[in-house]
Amino acid sequence: MHMYDFNDLLPYKKWRQGQLQIAHSVYNSIIERKILLINYPTGAGKTLPVLIGALKASFENGYKIIYLARTKNQFQAPQRELEKINKKIKEKINFVLLYNRQELCLQKNLQKLPYEEFIGFCAFLRKEGKCKYYPLSSRLSDSNNMQCGDEIMNLAESGDYCPYELTKLLSKNALVMILAYNYIFDPRIREIFTRDFNVKFERSILIIDEAHNLPDIIRNILTRKLRREWISRAIKEIKGYYRGEDRASVISSLRCLYSYLKSLDKKVLEKGFSVLERDFLYNTLPSPTRLRKIGLIIESEYKSMLLFKSSYIRRIYEFTNYFFEYPYSILYAERDYNYAVIKISPIFFEQNVIKPVVESRATIMMSGTLPPLGYYTSLLGLDPVRSRIEELRIPSPLSHRVKLKIVKGVSSRYVERGEVQYRKIAQCIDAIFYKSREGIVMTVFPSYNYMRNIRLYLKSRPLLVERERSRLSEVVNEAKKYEKVLLLAVAGGKMVEGIEIKRGNRSIINVVVIAGLPIPEPNILTKNMLENVSVKVGNRELAWKYVYLSPAVMRIVQAIGRSIRSKDDSSIVYILDERATDEFIISQLTRYGFVPEVVELQALLK
Ligand code: SF4
Repeated sequence: MHMYDFNDLLPYKKWRQGQLQIAHSVYNSIIERKILLINYPTGAGKTLPVLIGALKASFENGYKIIYLARTKNQFQAPQRELEKINKKIKEKINFVLLYNRQELCLQKNLQKLPYEEFIGFCAFLRKEGKCKYYPLSSRLSDSNNMQCGDEIMNLAESGDYCPYELTKLLSKNALVMILAYNYIFDPRIREIFTRDFNVKFERSILIIDEAHNLPDIIRNILTRKLRREWISRAIKEIKGYYRGEDRASVISSLRCLYSYLKSLDKKVLEKGFSVLERDFLYNTLPSPTRLRKIGLIIESEYKSMLLFKSSYIRRIYEFTNYFFEYPYSILYAERDYNYAVIKISPIFFEQNVIKPVVESRATIMMSGTLPPLGYYTSLLGLDPVRSRIEELRIPSPLSHRVKLKIVKGVSSRYVERGEVQYRKIAQCIDAIFYKSREGIVMTVFPSYNYMRNIRLYLKSRPLLVERERSRLSEVVNEAKKYEKVLLLAVAGGKMVEGIEIKRGNRSIINVVVIAGLPIPEPNILTKNMLENVSVKVGNRELAWKYVYLSPAVMRIVQAIGRSIRSKDDSSIVYILDERATDEFIISQLTRYGFVPEVVELQALLK
């Protein structure tokens, strides 16, 4: 393999501010076997230097690079940069993209199954020789000359090859694998993946993009659900395919469970969320062993008829098994449209879940909005000293283009919520909109509910509102029709996470209003997190700030990021909440390179 210098791998004329420093830090972390947390603004170009640092170490030592991204869209950034690097250097970097195996599957009738069942059916079809897309080996003689990246899908479809198996074959020569998070953080999927792709973490460099999402993503992966319609379908399955002696008693337990879920609807529709005692489920749920046995019988019936049907008993088994296996989990009901869904989530992550982060040669976790180190490591259950963690924070090179004002005399505190508060906030937004120049005034609320309450008192027009199901493209097109418009969005929502509205090279979001500090709602999840983090950091007050204030800062920074997309942009940001003058919040905002100025409400309304 060639030895490359950092500049040899750079496909552009020059480095952007901070990029060379990132490339060096990544390289050094790999050589020194460390975990590196990189905070560098979104859109400023961190993918490239991270890849360059990792590629240099990889060329020198033969490590594989595993790059994790959340969505297919996020696969594009590393793919694009690798293609550019490939044009610059002689040696071709082989890379593969591995989407979710089920999404890749060409047997369309398997796509709606739960993942576990899909894996079972796929294995069955392969074993019985009933999947025409498998095996490949007899039909593909030379995999070395095949293309990589997205072209795999085209090649697979044109040649009737299973895309997953094709990727597996290609990955033998691949230096970089770009994957979805669940291949690494779902222990069941990881086991199959590491076996299929012969992955050894100690010889791999793990890169995690948008790493601020990691704790939530892992929690989602591990959360198990129980839905009412699954129970009624499971009862039908048992009636149709199961003749065991315990048939009547299992059906009776499932009926009790169904009634219980129905009784939760009203409570959840009113409050959106309800913590549950474990006793009822403990006494009602059939044993996991029994459910598993019945599920296997039903699934084998399905397979023998070549029916690719979902086994609902298996879903109930998954939930039940988790319920009995993890007594220290959180049990709650949540609203899903007009019904209650029961969920069970882990309070903390077992070491097995984050094993790849610790065991890899080096792990690079990058984001534009990483929480404070102590908080982040306690959420993930990482020991900052034993895991040899280092942090690199590079403030936004464009932060000086933002005028950040915190308005005193106004707040969105829960205890003060009501007409007086809503009117005051609406009055501030109207005043800001009135004074602003052309373009978009993006106003970000802590929640949809809060937005609805304030909206009643807003006089400014024209007005565009983000709804729970709004599409980004629709909002962008609509907003561009106006010279000046007030856009109402929600912190942590689609708009704030992903919207970019430009004319030419410039963002037309010129003003951002944070209409109330976007603090997470106190609920059973955040309360448990607070307990957990308090123990880990040994300071309850600091833990409170981590759990409630640091996500608020992260959301504010995300919202500001929508207005500054290039060096030609500038914006004014107002935080309509005096709680943002808290020392912790100011210090966090300063770390991102912003210089907050405190202004009085009267001055704003003048
Ligand atoms: S072998 Fe491939 S195409 Fe066939 S069922 Fe499995 S994933 Fe689908």
